[in-house]
Amino acid sequence: MAFCVAARDLLARHGTLEKCFLAGDTDPRGPIGPALERFARAFLEADLHEVFARGRRSRGYRHLFPLPSVGGPCKRLLLFLRWMVRREAPDFGLWAGVSPARLLIPVDTHVENMSRAIGLTRRRSRNWRMAEEITARLAVLDPADPVKYDFALCHTRMAGDCLDRRDAVVCPPCGLRGVCRHWKRGEARRRRR
Ligand code: SF4
Repeated sequence: MAFCVAARDLLARHGTLEKCFLAGDTDPRGPIGPALERFARAFLEADLHEVFARGRRSRGYRHLFPLPSVGGPCKRLLLFLRWMVRREAPDFGLWAGVSPARLLIPVDTHVENMSRAIGLTRRRSRNWRMAEEITARLAVLDPADPVKYDFALCHTRMAGDCLDRRDAVVCPPCGLRGVCRHWKRGEARRRRR
């Protein structure tokens, strides 16, 4: 309910959610964090119905709109941006006003584990800085669209094509063996025997 009221108010004010986002995007070539922060704050501040009814925003509603400045991974917001901004399937590409080069990867447990396995990050905590680090490494491969690898990283794990450990059946056909720490450790152990 609170989300619907906030979305209705923002749509009445801006016309579209893209225009709402762009209104807070004061540096269209800069990092996406400040613009996403303002977008999330727009929803938090539009939630007046909830504030008046309860005297405060519900925890559930605040959970929908984490702030990048707090340092969490903001996975759902970054995934929403990926859907709206990237112009290739499986994304919708409805927001032409934001460059895909500015996106950060939405880090869930699958992306986190795959990224550690293949050396995209060494961070222990899943947070905003991890999303920045993984994205920066992916940008070496494609600076114009670093987040295009998100689907492959996530779904390799989800589909059971990686078990996050060396496996005699699953690993041999994997094209990432050359950079995978699980595979390399197993190979080193095997050579020592
Ligand atoms: S080599 Fe094995 S553990 Fe490493 S990424 Fe591939 S499937 Fe996963």
